[in-house]
Amino acid sequence: MTAAMPSHDHPLPPPMLEEVSAGIYSYVQPDGTWFINNCGFVAGDDEVVVIDTTSTEARTRAFIEAIRSVSDRPVTTVVNTHHHGDHTHGNYLFEGATVVAHRKCREVMMSAGGIADYSAAFPGVEWGALRFRPPSLVFDGSLDLHVGDVTLELRDLGYVAHTTGDVHAWLPERGVLFAGDLVFHGGTPFALFGSVSGTIEAMDRLESYGAEVMVPGHGPVARGAGIKSALDDQRQYLTFVLERAQAGIAAGRSPLEQALATDLGRFSAWTDGERLVGNLHVAYREAGHNDDFAIDRSIGDMIRFNGGALPRCLA
Ligand SMILES: [Zn+2]
Repeated sequence: MTAAMPSHDHPLPPPMLEEVSAGIYSYVQPDGTWFINNCGFVAGDDEVVVIDTTSTEARTRAFIEAIRSVSDRPVTTVVNTHHHGDHTHGNYLFEGATVVAHRKCREVMMSAGGIADYSAAFPGVEWGALRFRPPSLVFDGSLDLHVGDVTLELRDLGYVAHTTGDVHAWLPERGVLFAGDLVFHGGTPFALFGSVSGTIEAMDRLESYGAEVMVPGHGPVARGAGIKSALDDQRQYLTFVLERAQAGIAAGRSPLEQALATDLGRFSAWTDGERLVGNLHVAYREAGHNDDFAIDRSIGDMIRFNGGALPRCLA
């Protein structure tokens, strides 16, 4: 089943709604690149619980249409897996729902003071009439949400990974895992707002659930042996980043210089390859060699890595 995009005219396939277990849905938005994320929801007899919203008004309205195609129950709760705009911009369209997230997710959103202005880095995106809606219910550690006979075990990691406030949702009765952006399936992981080594460590936690279905934050749903393969891909890429950082530090190169000197090998087939630069900035910092680390400077280096071109964003 697919939902039509109301106001976008670009070459991407439409989002895909799939019932991955009875009453549990993934909503996968191709092609999973910048600001094109995945969502999910649990449709109970009395209510609907949503996991993540999307980056733009049009995309979130299409997601709501997809929910309405299978349930007329009210959306009572929205879970944000982390603070990034592609997962939170659409919160405001779920009026009346409680938005739940990690304490640090809210802290980061509040310290930003509103929706970030992405017009310089992503000038072509039609964001719509976005309104800032941070989470109102926050937790550390774990929180269980019950929807009919389904339990959503919302869990943090206890350490920094994709961001400082990552939450994943494990549905033990159904073997379904919503991983958030701890996993980019078929795309380049992005640790600029978190930790390279922490994201590697997070793969062990995700693997420990023995999930049958994993909905990543970006890219296609993984099943069975495909889950281990997707997690191994993330591990191997991020371990490669750590190795390249060590080599770059030893050679006295800056993160950008080291990125330009790096052959990505099989990872070059993945989308958003310029994230290597941001990931190296973080890996250098984690190795104690990037005292003036700054997210803005790292993003500037990603653009320089692309020969001055802005990241390709089709949201
Ligand atoms: Zn993210």
